[in-house]
Amino acid sequence: MSEIDFTNIIGFTLSQLKTEFAKIGLTNLDAKRVFPWIHTKSARSFDIMSDVPLKVRKILEENYSIKIPNCVTLQKSRDGTKKALLKLWDENCIETVFIPEEKRSTVCVSSQIGCAVGCKFCYTGTQNFVRNLTSSEIIAQILFWNESVTNIVFMGMGEPLLNFENLASALELLLEERAHNFSRHKITVSTSGIIENAIFDLAKFGVKLAISLHASNDETRSRIMPINNKYNIKTLINAAEEYQRNSNTDHVTFEYLLLKGINDSDANAIELSRLLRSIPSKVNLITFNSWPGSPFIGSSYDHAHRFAKILLGKGIRTIVRKSRGDDVLAACGQLKGKK
Ligand code: SAH
Ligand code: SF4
Repeated sequence: MSEIDFTNIIGFTLSQLKTEFAKIGLTNLDAKRVFPWIHTKSARSFDIMSDVPLKVRKILEENYSIKIPNCVTLQKSRDGTKKALLKLWDENCIETVFIPEEKRSTVCVSSQIGCAVGCKFCYTGTQNFVRNLTSSEIIAQILFWNESVTNIVFMGMGEPLLNFENLASALELLLEERAHNFSRHKITVSTSGIIENAIFDLAKFGVKLAISLHASNDETRSRIMPINNKYNIKTLINAAEEYQRNSNTDHVTFEYLLLKGINDSDANAIELSRLLRSIPSKVNLITFNSWPGSPFIGSSYDHAHRFAKILLGKGIRTIVRKSRGDDVLAACGQLKGKK
């Protein structure tokens, strides 16, 4: 946890809560009682925690808060997608997106304010990196919706693997039976491919991994994702293979954003299929969500289907992902968090 909102209790895992409580003379049993109130019973104040002794509640009130950041604007897209701008204690804002579908509803979560990775096609990337979100601020984005959420994707603002400690606490809370009790199969962490310890540590949570590949060769990838100069495609594919084995997930998803004239030729599709030949994978083809002043043109849906057909012909599982909420700039890569 960062020190900036250390009084907010919503980001503590059960073991962190026990450690915290010990510092102010409270017991493990107190922690065990308080914990589900916050995460399964939506308690927003200590006074409703009826099985927690009164004097303990009083101590809690003096030392902690239960805070969900205020929503400053809520936008609803034509397709039902909702985007909320939440204002944090330090006036910075983050965006969280709720995507309802027929059989599920997904929350798209941000992990940082801004992003230092600087991918050329991403609106967040045009904003400087400001700071990491705390685990409370990450969890708050799910608690905020107060609707039944079936899936979580870490595809909002920021690079989750560059905020691993707080990501890990948030994942622990999401997976914990006595808290949110999500299945590991319903949580996806998306990374631009930061191949450091974090990606291997993530494997122990067993959540799904998505890698933003977006190109079929290093030359093109470096052009649109400068991070490729540090961790190239070969490094990425090897790490993905290792992740898949260690996490016991059945595949790694590769996201591929189709940019007209840059990475969307038939030859690119064939090149991509060769890269993925030896690894249990799935390809998500994404069409470009444009933003004010963006330097790219996206390939058309028809073209995306042509690209998909080539991959499918080579035996690569592929889908063309529908963009959601783009009319309110709520789609992937469009979040910026400015008012
Ligand atoms: N930082 C992480 C997760 C957040 S972005 C990552 O990069 O993977 C989630 C996905 O949206 C990534 O695949 C990202 O490359 C993609 N994306 C970024 N900008 C986009 C845009 N303008 N249109 C469509 N997808 C975009
Ligand atoms: Fe950061 Fe992901 Fe955007 Fe790249 S695509 S700038 S890693 S948020």
